Amino acid sequence: MLAIMEAGREVLVTPSRPYHTRSGESRMPTGHYTRKSEFERFMQFVSPEPMSGCWLWFGAANQNGYGVVRAHGKSYLAHRLSHELFKGPIPTGLHIDHLCRTPACVNPDHIEAVTCGENSRRGNVYEVNRVLQLLKTHCPQGHPYLGDNLVEVPCPRISTGINRICRTCRNKRAREWARRERQRNGSNHRS
Ligand SMILES: [Zn+2]
Ligand SMILES: [Zn+2]
Repeated sequence: MLAIMEAGREVLVTPSRPYHTRSGESRMPTGHYTRKSEFERFMQFVSPEPMSGCWLWFGAANQNGYGVVRAHGKSYLAHRLSHELFKGPIPTGLHIDHLCRTPACVNPDHIEAVTCGENSRRGNVYEVNRVLQLLKTHCPQGHPYLGDNLVEVPCPRISTGINRICRTCRNKRAREWARRERQRNGSNHRS
């Protein structure tokens, strides 16, 4: 057992077993990381997508493709928690609209608190963009939107809407992100 301070009070934690990082490495927890802040727990499920700038959620999701996460002892939609973490509380009665039309996206720059009316008016504009997107056969790096390389994310607001993601680029970006996170965490620990 070791003792750490959390929110001004001492908490006992048991050093846990080795854990596996997303890239498959086995590492021992340092004790500092046995308990993570809400922000750290949130960010560990996020992978930025290079083409769209979306932060794709790799944690649990509901049947509509929206990420779900527990925080502060209750269940949140991940994009709503993103708004609270990065932009502050969501005003009462407002909905969170995805400007990028990607339900799995939790990039605070891609979401906005809007009234219900604004939310549905925007749908028409994005439907046009979506048709254009479906005409593309390759990602900007030249990988085909075909077979295993094509990841399709359904859009809940438009019945035929689909977001197309290149798996090769997404995985590459996720690996780079994990490497940067390891470097960042590593340098924190040495201090
Ligand atoms: Zn997005
Ligand atoms: Zn690609």
